[in-house]
Amino acid sequence: MFRIHIGSITEQGLDLDQREDAASLPLLSEVAGEAEVIFNHPIHARIHARLSGKTVLIDGRAESKVRLPCSRCLEPFDINIDTNFSGTAVPEIPAMDDAAAVDDIELAAKDMEVIVYSGDYIDLGDEIAQQIIMSLPFKPLCRDACKGLCSRCGADLNQTACRCQPQDEGGPFAVLKTRRFPKRPK
Ligand SMILES: [Zn+2]
Ligand SMILES: [Zn+2]
Repeated sequence: MFRIHIGSITEQGLDLDQREDAASLPLLSEVAGEAEVIFNHPIHARIHARLSGKTVLIDGRAESKVRLPCSRCLEPFDINIDTNFSGTAVPEIPAMDDAAAVDDIELAAKDMEVIVYSGDYIDLGDEIAQQIIMSLPFKPLCRDACKGLCSRCGADLNQTACRCQPQDEGGPFAVLKTRRFPKRPK
């Protein structure tokens, strides 16, 4: 579990270096079930936390590897994930007469991710999982030059040249590109 023990945050802050199985983050398992994404590498997170009253300011970096299908050829391949995250953790039930705490929350809600904590620990699992999910590419490509699948026969054109290949040259107007027209007299 990626979590911060609040009592361990000193004046200098607290630095954590943690490695967890992706399976320990329920959000990732959910996404893996819905999309064809496999989280088969541990998540490495470096986290820095510092206190501002009862509010905890957090930033960090998460790295991992994820396997997903290429959007062109559908072959699964691994991509590196390297993403930064930041957030503000506030206690679950702030005393409403604690004006400073309320101010902190309003400030935090404006421009940062707010994490609500109770007790002695802040759980960063969901936060880190969300960042990883958001950093996944919309159109993953196994390589820039991936040729994809033939739209006619479905062959993987990275592996083989199918017989329906020269379709680009075969279009009805292709001949016009090479044909020379006689110049008309002005
Ligand atoms: Zn591909
Ligand atoms: Zn083909």
